[in-house]
Amino acid sequence: MPFHDVIGHERPKTILQSALRHDRIAHAYLFHGDEGIGKQLIALRFAQAINCESGDGSDACGACRSCTQTEARTHPDFLLVQPDPELANPQIKIEQVRELEQQIVYHPLVGRKKIFLIDDADRMTLGAANALLKTLEEPPEHSVLLLVSGRPSALPATVRSRCQALRFAPPARTQVEAALILKREIPPAEARLLAAASQSRLGAALTMDLAATRAALDELCAASSPQTLRSVTAILTAAEAFHKSDRGPEVLDWLAQWIRDLLLVSIGADQDHLIHADRLPLLKNAARGAQADQLAGLLDDIDQLQRSAGRNLNLHMALENVLLRLREATLSAG
Ligand SMILES: [Zn+2]
Repeated sequence: MPFHDVIGHERPKTILQSALRHDRIAHAYLFHGDEGIGKQLIALRFAQAINCESGDGSDACGACRSCTQTEARTHPDFLLVQPDPELANPQIKIEQVRELEQQIVYHPLVGRKKIFLIDDADRMTLGAANALLKTLEEPPEHSVLLLVSGRPSALPATVRSRCQALRFAPPARTQVEAALILKREIPPAEARLLAAASQSRLGAALTMDLAATRAALDELCAASSPQTLRSVTAILTAAEAFHKSDRGPEVLDWLAQWIRDLLLVSIGADQDHLIHADRLPLLKNAARGAQADQLAGLLDDIDQLQRSAGRNLNLHMALENVLLRLREATLSAG
């Protein structure tokens, strides 16, 4: 199995492995998709596979000197370019791209290719992006550029068009759960909680604090409980508190999960399908008197909201609106 320690992403993995096997590696790739789902890790594994000293050339062994040095970022033919995380507004500066330009002209010292991994590539300054463009226009035969970005639209189109783009979608929640059970050595219920809370972003779920996540969910459960929903004042207070805590988008995600579960409970679906199966009594209580069609409509609207959610989305109003409609959908019969 290629890139065996990275879950999901079968399509990009297959494309990369085929390129390795047929020795048709592109000069530049753009790995794009949500944050924290494994783009950077695959880029690193791909870099290792290109210069791996053992194996069949279609995957990284992970153990040879080349693989170890690439992992440790000490390989003489591998350079990681990334924004300085210490800065308030981390950017990739033109000096960093200049260093890349200086190194890229030399042939690889020990490996097959000279590899440059540009993480958070969308954080290049305009000057840096323009400098990189020159390299992308005439890349040396022996070089590979791997651009990784969670916001590819923030990259100049001229840069994007010179890279082979590979889109990364979040892996299925069940895959993330399985990986969490294995890697964090936690029971299935906890894995499910973290997978749900991280929106199936394994990178985030691996480091998430379990107790804090549980506490945050308790707070959200309280805010969407029938007790809170009975009082419009309580709804408005809760929406304002979430908005002020800067967790608006997260809360919206969670509400969508919760409403999905409510809908499933109200139509009598098997509890194996629930994201929050561990809170079944709460769900059952809240789903009593719920209108399935209204819940489904609300779910669609949240989905629309999230898709169109630019910076301009008024999250405060959106949260109020969702909670008020949840009140309508669940308290109408009570
Ligand atoms: Zn190796």
